[in-house]
Amino acid sequence: MAVQSTIKKDDEFDIEIVDMGSEGEGIGHADGYALFVKNALIGDRVRVKVMKAKKRYAYACLLEILRPSPDRVEPRCSLAYKCGGCQLQHWNYCRQLEFKEKRILDCLKRIGGFLDVEAVIEPIIGTEEPFHYRNKAQFPIGRDKEGNVTAGFYAGRTHSIIDTEHCYIQAEVNDPVMKIIKEFIREFQISAYDEASHTGLIRHVLTRMGFATGEVMVCIVINGDGLPHGHILAGRLSSVEGMKSISVNVNKENTNVILGKHTATLWGESFITDYIGNIRYQISPPSFYQVNPRQTERLYQTVLEFAGLTGTEVVWDLYCGIGTISLFLAQNAGSVYGVEIVPQAVEDAKVNARINGIGNVEFFTGAAEELVPRKCRDSSGMMAADVVVLDPPRKGCDATLLDTIAELAPQRIVYVSCDPATLARDARYLCENGYRLERARGCDMFPETVHVETCVLLSHKNS
Ligand code: SAH
Repeated sequence: MAVQSTIKKDDEFDIEIVDMGSEGEGIGHADGYALFVKNALIGDRVRVKVMKAKKRYAYACLLEILRPSPDRVEPRCSLAYKCGGCQLQHWNYCRQLEFKEKRILDCLKRIGGFLDVEAVIEPIIGTEEPFHYRNKAQFPIGRDKEGNVTAGFYAGRTHSIIDTEHCYIQAEVNDPVMKIIKEFIREFQISAYDEASHTGLIRHVLTRMGFATGEVMVCIVINGDGLPHGHILAGRLSSVEGMKSISVNVNKENTNVILGKHTATLWGESFITDYIGNIRYQISPPSFYQVNPRQTERLYQTVLEFAGLTGTEVVWDLYCGIGTISLFLAQNAGSVYGVEIVPQAVEDAKVNARINGIGNVEFFTGAAEELVPRKCRDSSGMMAADVVVLDPPRKGCDATLLDTIAELAPQRIVYVSCDPATLARDARYLCENGYRLERARGCDMFPETVHVETCVLLSHKNS
């Protein structure tokens, strides 16, 4: 017989928060249930009210902090508890780092089955600047109940927009940019996109800044073929310090995907440039570029170290984006081949090789899981690899790709990921197919949030 739930909605409890969940919720216990409490912290004593009870656990909301954790800090942002962007702004930064390192460790143990992971994990790379670190923002545009234009970020787990004038983790140049855009929308009565009815024009504003160059890009995503009075908006935005590129992207699909296929430049260039280390990169609106450039350099240094290059190796950089890691490694490798699915990113990668005078790289457009097996079967014999770098999106790698890599048997695989769970899953698979986990290190690319980047080195058992 099913155990009857004894906890019900609206029950209230005073509990001690003893652990943290992967989404940054505090976890405490009452009547043998685990209670997940948003905005509560390990070390807090809190009064909570049950919102939703399941069989063995429940979600509860924080009513009152009875005794704050000694690690609790006042969030800088007044919207921190509402906005879905920062889940950990109320936590001392050192504790945030410990939390992320523990998360990596837990994933590698539980999902990866690496029981002695403590022996290989190295201290997480923290940052001296946990605020204003992001070089890219995507603001959804909408209207509130009174019809006022709203632009900001989504509230946690919803698509309701929290109107934001200043974001503490974003580049500060966003403030004048968004002020100009909101005023323009008001003045010319431009419609804002409404997800529910799939009507209205302006969907998102994407901004990007090269931290090393100060160059700024603004891309306005519209559900239509043109932006009325776009030249007036471009004229106003062009006065913002550092502005280099203003474009309009057309996305008429009924989708959560932010960018559509077609981008037209309204003013300036179609890209901005930035530096990571001594390498200059050109970045177009649809291309991926790491969001925290200061920490990116440290991440790439870790990749370089794990790759153990001596100057002669053949390296494949899969999921290469605009060729950032490829070019970073090329200086120490024999040759580097990059594979990336977004054609504009590959175009950027090729230009980036050229403007940096790097000749020992080649880039291919395609899905890694299709292109790599194809090249492997190719009789030209080109596909040999000493080192493979993997840096996939959150969902990780396709099993077909992992099988092909195991067949290729490079000496070293450096796997970079923003999701320690899928990383652990894929690392396990590779370790069941010839590899061993040699090193693992977190890098905090996303302070104040629960997200963490991880880099691991897998070495071939025969090397
Ligand atoms: N290594 C790069 C990019 C990492 S982000 C950097 O550090 O900047 C992951 C990249 O994988 C994105 O550029 C994305 O467009 C690309 N991508 C997503 N799915 C892919 C696939 N199936 N095959 C190849 N590339 C893919």
